[in-house]
Amino acid sequence: MINQQRIIENFVAMVEIASVSSKEGKIRDYLLAEFSGRGLQVEEDQAGDLVNGESGNLLVKIPGVVDGEAILFAAHMDTVEPGEGIKASMEDGIIRSKGDTILGSDDKAAIAAIIEAVDVLRENKIPHGPLELLITVCEEQGLKGAKSFDFSRLNSVIAYALDAGGEPGSIIIQSPCQNEIEYKVYGKPAHAGMNPEKGINAIQAAAVALSSMPCGRIDQDTTCNLGIIEGGTARNIVADYCHIKGEARSLIRSKLDDITELLTNTFIDEVQKQGARAEVDIKFLYPEIKLSPEDRVVKTAVRAIESIGLIPRLESTGGGSDASIIHGAGIPCVNLGIGMSNVHTCDEYIRVADLIKDAQIVLSIIREVLKEG
Ligand SMILES: [Zn+2]
Repeated sequence: MINQQRIIENFVAMVEIASVSSKEGKIRDYLLAEFSGRGLQVEEDQAGDLVNGESGNLLVKIPGVVDGEAILFAAHMDTVEPGEGIKASMEDGIIRSKGDTILGSDDKAAIAAIIEAVDVLRENKIPHGPLELLITVCEEQGLKGAKSFDFSRLNSVIAYALDAGGEPGSIIIQSPCQNEIEYKVYGKPAHAGMNPEKGINAIQAAAVALSSMPCGRIDQDTTCNLGIIEGGTARNIVADYCHIKGEARSLIRSKLDDITELLTNTFIDEVQKQGARAEVDIKFLYPEIKLSPEDRVVKTAVRAIESIGLIPRLESTGGGSDASIIHGAGIPCVNLGIGMSNVHTCDEYIRVADLIKDAQIVLSIIREVLKEG
């Protein structure tokens, strides 16, 4: 039922439209034309203004041809760099870029699969319940598009993001919540040679504090890292300022809270002991997904994947995605592997066979949900 030629053409057309985060205007126009050309209602929200980008998130609501529960499929239209001037080429059933850019299968493979599934439903008059499609912007920049979306506009009871790297069949049922942690240390400047005793060295105070803090893996659910350290103004001046950026993640919210509190209080106390002063800013980036094989959104995906002859694999991942935001907004959501490989590199590729499987998975989920209803 999948039209291989059509899904390839649509995918290639989309990846060749540059859509680096916040510059999604052209792909937005393409998608508006694709959806409205099919007689579907598309709404663009205000996310473009909120994130200073060219486009908002697109929401397509497809009424059910039969009664049933609404389900959401989500993908993002933006890409990382280098994403200008992409030329896709196909060899031996694999689609790649020319090697000097990314390909953009992350996440246009998902959009192509979703559109193909919609076409197959309509051509074959396959009964389905209400469908909601959310195509976000600025996913690659801290999930900003999804974060500015108003989820009260949706009716869906479960959601599937198609934005994971594993082979079709993989279902991400666990991903961490994350805090960004920024430390600022204020010391006192002085000439390093003439009167160092009059200064308070912010770098040294930070170093002492950091040396007494955990870094790396905390336990099986929890990690933390220090990623950036900057400070001082000149070799011969006692550094009066230092700033550090780090993060903490955990699959369990209370563990994230605990490690964040430890990393905050230890730092402030230890810096103070050195006579300097510290400020710590915590930014909550995204919530955790912690689903079990017994949860409905997972069971439906498992059945859908099995029923098309693929092997479902329940997995855990170390990062956030739009699925985190959707799930956190109260619609149980898993992220599905779509077969995109080496993403965020110029070696990115995807197999045509996987593009087709992705569309089949979308169709199969729609079928399963209708059966359950
Ligand atoms: Zn992605």
